Amino acid sequence: MNTDIYRFKIGKLECTAVSDGTLTYAPPVFPPPAAFLFVDAPRQRLELTLRRYELQPEKWVEWVSPYICLLINTGEQRVLVDTGADGLGPNTGRLLQNLRAAEIVPEDIDVVILTHGHPDHIGGNTDAEGKPTFPNARYVMQKAEWDFWTSEEAELKLDEHSKEVLLGFARRNLPPIKDQLDLIGQAEEIVPGIRAVAAPGHTPEHMALAVSSGGEQLLCIADAVLHPIHLEQPEWCAAVDLMPEQVVVTRCKLLNRAVTEKALVLAFHFPFPGLGRVVQKGEAWHWQPIGITD
Ligand SMILES: [Zn+2]
Repeated sequence: MNTDIYRFKIGKLECTAVSDGTLTYAPPVFPPPAAFLFVDAPRQRLELTLRRYELQPEKWVEWVSPYICLLINTGEQRVLVDTGADGLGPNTGRLLQNLRAAEIVPEDIDVVILTHGHPDHIGGNTDAEGKPTFPNARYVMQKAEWDFWTSEEAELKLDEHSKEVLLGFARRNLPPIKDQLDLIGQAEEIVPGIRAVAAPGHTPEHMALAVSSGGEQLLCIADAVLHPIHLEQPEWCAAVDLMPEQVVVTRCKLLNRAVTEKALVLAFHFPFPGLGRVVQKGEAWHWQPIGITD
């Protein structure tokens, strides 16, 4: 069983979920997991929900979050979605070694799509010398997201606690890719079969992706949800969700779309490989993971 690479197909597109590692969210650096992931959730409802997930509210002291990237070989181009969190923690930054295990070297990547500007999604943009890790790639990002992270706006809107880390990663990993950068607008097709889907809230212009081929759909929802409980309780936002009200709207849109289109769904912080189906459950949803079979 390989827990670092998971291959699957969407029509003719060869996809691989690639692990960048994991990060443990726990005090004192982060609030306890329930407080971190479900800010302002009503206490009683939260406890009941956690118990159904076999989590004891008072004993759930750390959340080990997977960091997952996605590789798509379209036959014409090799597309990497997000670059992981090189340098963020002791168990992150494994993307390149896991790509190598999938027989991919950095020079092979033609397009890098960045879903948003958080450290765990742009952290592998540059190498130790500060040069783009993927020398031949077009780096694609939403224009408004790029503008946020490279202007004073981020400085003003981020809270003191996270500002230093977030801005440090943005400063190290965004300006150096400028010569290879392609800033796009909402809903643009990035390469044939891969289209941007507006999914704002987690960050100002956080982007989801619709991947389609041969009548099959993959909806890559990135960080619109961070934990399967967010499908059942879409109004419970995380401490890292910058615009909570917008997050709720985005979640409902994406989860509805996943059900309607019967899409396979990839969520970047769910248990590896982060793939599953979204099932309607009353007015909310439920996560049905797809297990590792190889
Ligand atoms: Zn993330």
